[in-house]
Amino acid sequence: MSIVNYFWCVSVLNTPLTALPGLQPKKAALLKKECGAETYGDMLRLFPFRYVDRTRFYLVSEISDELPFVQLVGKLSSIQLTGSGKGKERLTAVFTDQSGKLDLVWFQGIKWVQDKLKPGIDFIIFGKPTVFNNKFNLAHPEIEVFTAEKAARASKLQPVYNTSESMKRQWLDSKGVSAVITSVLRAAAGQIPETISEQLRGQLQLIPLERAYFQIHQPVSASELSEAEQRLKFEELFFLQLRLLRINRQNKKLLKGFAFEKIGTIFNDFFKNHLPFDLTNAQKRVIKEIRADVAKPIQMNRLVQGDVGSGKTIVAFMSMLMAIDNGYQACLMAPTEILANQHYEGLKIFAEKIGVTIRLLTGSSKKKDRTILHEELESGELKIIVGTHALLEDKVKFQNLGFVVIDEQHRFGVAQRAKLWAKNVLPPHVLIMSATPIPRTLAMTLYGDLDISVIDELPPGRKPITTRHHYETERPAVFNFIKKEIALGRQIYIVYPLIEESEQLDYKNLMDGYEHLEAWFPPPDYHLSIVHGRLKSKDKEFEMQRFVKNQTQIMVATTVIEVGVNVPNASVMIVESAERFGLSQLHQLRGRVGRGADQSYCILMTSYKLSREAKIRLETMVSTTDGFKIAETDLELRGPGDLHGTMQSGALDLQIADISRDSKLLAYCRELANYILDKDPELELPEHLRLKEHLQEIAKKKVNWGQIS
Ligand code: ADP
Ligand code: MG
Repeated sequence: MSIVNYFWCVSVLNTPLTALPGLQPKKAALLKKECGAETYGDMLRLFPFRYVDRTRFYLVSEISDELPFVQLVGKLSSIQLTGSGKGKERLTAVFTDQSGKLDLVWFQGIKWVQDKLKPGIDFIIFGKPTVFNNKFNLAHPEIEVFTAEKAARASKLQPVYNTSESMKRQWLDSKGVSAVITSVLRAAAGQIPETISEQLRGQLQLIPLERAYFQIHQPVSASELSEAEQRLKFEELFFLQLRLLRINRQNKKLLKGFAFEKIGTIFNDFFKNHLPFDLTNAQKRVIKEIRADVAKPIQMNRLVQGDVGSGKTIVAFMSMLMAIDNGYQACLMAPTEILANQHYEGLKIFAEKIGVTIRLLTGSSKKKDRTILHEELESGELKIIVGTHALLEDKVKFQNLGFVVIDEQHRFGVAQRAKLWAKNVLPPHVLIMSATPIPRTLAMTLYGDLDISVIDELPPGRKPITTRHHYETERPAVFNFIKKEIALGRQIYIVYPLIEESEQLDYKNLMDGYEHLEAWFPPPDYHLSIVHGRLKSKDKEFEMQRFVKNQTQIMVATTVIEVGVNVPNASVMIVESAERFGLSQLHQLRGRVGRGADQSYCILMTSYKLSREAKIRLETMVSTTDGFKIAETDLELRGPGDLHGTMQSGALDLQIADISRDSKLLAYCRELANYILDKDPELELPEHLRLKEHLQEIAKKKVNWGQIS
């Protein structure tokens, strides 16, 4: 490649920081190590995390302890050095303006400051007011001789950057970082490429990208700052959505799939004669959405989100019938044996009514059964198979797999999904069911390459679960309440936290709690089950089954029961140390009860020591049962990164936008991206060329983009 060409295709933002005039290699290395900043662009995307307002001058009389920082103009008097010896010296001065007096004090760098301080002339001082001896003072203020020019320069919003200790040691404190960024801005000025067309920018009333970079780092006013934020947030969210939607559309073109041409007799028979209840409107809508997908010769990849108990199973089952009516087989994959079992038991009741064959395959299926099952699958005699990861084994071959349901998909990796896809000449349609409602904004981003259906309505007649928060001291009352419920024939869950870092401690808590419970609930009147991570899966299963069969009334467990278990007779969920659980976990746990006709309860037990966030979590749980509302709060409290752990964090690599706070902008960006792609799928129109170029530029950096679900 000729040198001309090289420069032609490389944006100034890709210039390595090592080429920045005046930046010592040592600092460049540190910026790379500590901030991951290797290029001009990386550096410019280290956005300030806050600003110090130097746009105005205060009067001494205006100072209050609510002001984080103040900037003042006035004269100094009584400049004094007191104390002697290292660390004992202090320099004080009295600052005076037209409204009053203020003490200034320095404990360090005294020599240097002392030379600057002169009585009788005007200074600009800047610092954080603190109260000492009932008076305001400023410790270690910044100080400069007043000149009109300096006043003008000083009067802006001063950016504050995150830095680390090792950076500070190399003079890369906030000011140091700011200086590097200023050099980058100077070096790149006039060359930062615009990513959207003039026309689009005009329509959206956004400032040019280059100006946004200047204004985010050196705003002279709040309105400049907000213009810059708006532009840069748009930049992140819009290109994120454009990229995701493009992948989604391309996939749809590439991913050939089976077209289920008809709704057949089996589906209709079930729908007309055997449906045990009326579908909710939400269920009907989702079934229609699935129907529309599978009728096309394109592989469906659809996520169905619905709160616990919203009735996802029947939706999955009826979708499977669409496959069977068209000569295909279907499978349902669950993350644990217990869940696979429950799904199997549930679906079997439906399947038997309409003569559809169904079997279960898990790690503990017997060899003899497996052989039969393998044969039936290959011959096509078996229509539905429910199972765990065991379904992925190569030995499991289908005659004609057409539809796959995955429950609680986050436990399955991409590679595993790919294995399922390979079980037929074309990939089967995939329906993913998730009982972890996540806000639409987040779903749109995390699952940008999936289509999303939401079941946002519970079947009628459910009694909302009553949730209460109790402190440890109220335990006797809580236990007496349990006794009453058990006397009514109900069953109880008691859940203890399990957090990996303190597994030892958690185990001890669980065991102590168990002993305590045995004392309160002794045999022969009461029987307890206990399930925790240290049990072998066979023993876990045994204990679970005893509870499922109502042979035990209390299930004491760590969070292993979190996902999907269904015991309609259980009416009370007690969460111990509830302050240690996240909101979505609490919501999942609560969803274990309220599955029968009885009034159900969720009781959150905590100590008195509660953080502000823990209080909000508990209050949220007590005040609502709406999973989507809870998810919104969770997102606000924790941020999206935590919500889904390390998974998919790449998709949320946002520097300035915030999925929760900027959800409106996100939705808007998605709409805009869709609109543009509808009009110009390949981004070939002149006004879209820049978008395309920029996407290609991004694609070079994000290799794994297509892998995020
Ligand atoms: P989830 O979405 O948590 O998987 P399920 O599919 O297990 O929920 O459904 C929960 C319970 O509600 C089941 O007992 C199911 O039979 C019942 N159910 C589902 N849909 C309806 C409906 N439309 N009307 C009444 N009951 C329903
Ligand atoms: Mg379910």
